[in-house]
Amino acid sequence: MKDQVELLSVNDLRVCFSGKKSGIMGGSLPVPVVNGVSFNVYKGETLGLVGESGCGKTTLGRALIRLGSPVVTGKVAFEGREISGIGNREFRSLRKEMQMIFQDPFGSLNPRLTVGQTLEEVLLVHSLARGEAARKRIVELLDVVGLNRDYINRYPHEFSGGQRQRIGIARALAVKPKFIICDEPVSALDVSIQSQIINLLKDLQRDMGLTYLFIAHDLSVVEYISDRVAVMYLGKIVEIADSTELYANPEHPYTRALLSAIPNPEFGAKKERILLNGDLPGPLNMPSGCPFHPRCPVATAECKQRIPKLQERQNNGHQVACLLYE
Ligand code: SF4
Repeated sequence: MKDQVELLSVNDLRVCFSGKKSGIMGGSLPVPVVNGVSFNVYKGETLGLVGESGCGKTTLGRALIRLGSPVVTGKVAFEGREISGIGNREFRSLRKEMQMIFQDPFGSLNPRLTVGQTLEEVLLVHSLARGEAARKRIVELLDVVGLNRDYINRYPHEFSGGQRQRIGIARALAVKPKFIICDEPVSALDVSIQSQIINLLKDLQRDMGLTYLFIAHDLSVVEYISDRVAVMYLGKIVEIADSTELYANPEHPYTRALLSAIPNPEFGAKKERILLNGDLPGPLNMPSGCPFHPRCPVATAECKQRIPKLQERQNNGHQVACLLYE
C-alpha cells in the first residue's frame, strides 16, 4: 500500500436525477443513482471502482467533478478542504486539480479542432500558456503521452482509438492535475491497445505522482492497475479492500460472483462460476433490506429486512456490507 495521506474524502454522497413527470400534479420522482457512498482516496494510489453497468459508478465519478446537473448531497473534501459547499465559480479553479478521462475519447474531442488547437484551448482557458510557450507545452504533452509531435495539426478523425485516448490523457495532463478520474478509459479499445494505455497511465502516475479513481467493469484490468478496489452495487459500495486482499479473499457474495466470471488464465483449469439470478434492478425498484438480496445465492429471511453496514472486520482496511459478517 502506498503513502496513506488522504487526497479525497467522500462522506455519505447521494446523487439523484429528476425522473419523468407523473401523476395529476405532474410532479416528478427523484431517481437515486448513488445512495450514500463513503470512501477515501489516498495520494499516489489508484482506487479501482467496479460493478455492473447501471450500478452508479460513472455517475459517482461525474458528480465528484460536478459534471451534469444531478442533485448531490453529502460531503466531499479535497486535500483536507471541504469542497461540497463551494460555489460553481470557485469550483472551476479546482478543476485544474481534478480531471477526467472519458470512455469515448472521440465523443469528447471537438472534431473541428486539431490536436494542437484542442490542447491550446485548455491552456488558454486556464491561463496557463499562450503563443510560443503554449506550443512548447503542447509538444511536451504529445511527447509525454507517446504521440508523434508531427501530429499537432491532425484532426481527431485522423487518429486510431488508442491515439485518441492518448490525446484525451494529454488534455487532462495539460493543467497538471493531482487527481484524475479515469472513466472506463480502455473499455472501447482492442485488447492489445488496452495494455498500452494502462501502462501509459501507470508510468504517468509514477513520474508525476498522480492519483487515480479508475472506473471499469473489467475486473482483470482493475486488478492490474489498482492498489485498492471498491465494488459497487445499486448505488452503494458493498466491499472495499486492498487489491491483492480483495482478489484473494472476496467476502461479499456479489464480489465472489463477479470474480468467478473472470476467465482462468491457466489452460484447462476449472473455476466454479457463480451465476446470479435476474438483472440489476433499476434505481426506482430498490429492494428492501440488503439491495442484493433478490439475486444473492445465500440470502436469508433477515436479508429482506435489514440493510447491512459497510464494516471492517480485521483491522486490515477490508470492509464489507453483508449480514453474514455482522
Ligand atoms: Fe446476501 Fe444477505 Fe449478505 Fe445481502 S446481506 S449479500 S442478501 S447474505
